[in-house]
Amino acid sequence: GRKFLVGGNWKMNASKALVDTLVGSLNTASWNPDLIEVVIAPPAPYLDLVRSKVKKEVAVSAQNIYFEKKGAFTGEISSEFLKDLGITWTIIGHSERREIFKESDEVTAKKVAYALAEGLNVIACVGEKLEEREANQTTAVVFRQLKAIADVLKPEDWDRVVIAYEPVWAIGTGKVASPQQAQDVHAEIRSWLTANVSESVAHATRILYGGSVGAKNSGDLQSQEDIDGFLIGGASLTASSSSRRSCRL
Ligand code: 13P
Repeated sequence: GRKFLVGGNWKMNASKALVDTLVGSLNTASWNPDLIEVVIAPPAPYLDLVRSKVKKEVAVSAQNIYFEKKGAFTGEISSEFLKDLGITWTIIGHSERREIFKESDEVTAKKVAYALAEGLNVIACVGEKLEEREANQTTAVVFRQLKAIADVLKPEDWDRVVIAYEPVWAIGTGKVASPQQAQDVHAEIRSWLTANVSESVAHATRILYGGSVGAKNSGDLQSQEDIDGFLIGGASLTASSSSRRSCRL
């Protein structure tokens, strides 16, 4: 089966004090690592601190990288930095990167391919905006985003790719997708992978749901057949047992 993955995307929220609180909470939580994989994505300046403090069962992820090794790219994050710091994952193509920083499908795909070639694991994000859902464009948009990524991957690359379906209208809004809405899109994504990549990739690839996941709604979402984990924003910033419960750790 597909191991359930719980990802915490801190976005642009951190301090040394917050690192102490959140890492402290994770370090005292326990879960069965055969059943659940935990990945946290703090802002880049805190990656080293988090990696040095958090227990080894927790993988640490960047929120973004650039597709060049080094050089005159002011402000960018290299895969080399991540490898140097023991960071094994990166998120790519989050809707905030796509929307606010105008990262296209092509740039996103190039980053995914680059990260994989550099040996990283990737959480590749897709998802439609409200107006796209209302115009019945949900699968068209998600398939377009997915195709851009799939086009640049080799069959073996998929072992290190996790897809996060994050409907933009559900992110940070408290308007979580219903379990059925999420399941429907996840199933469509899996069918797309069957038709366009392979049966085995479709079967093995984890599809996370992201968008206002918290303690109240995680159980019903988690029980959906094609939901293989979560990418949690806001609720990953509260150290209380509620965030642990929200991940059912
Ligand atoms: P929220 O959980 O705050 O809605 O954020 C979801 C998200 O964007 C995770 O990447």
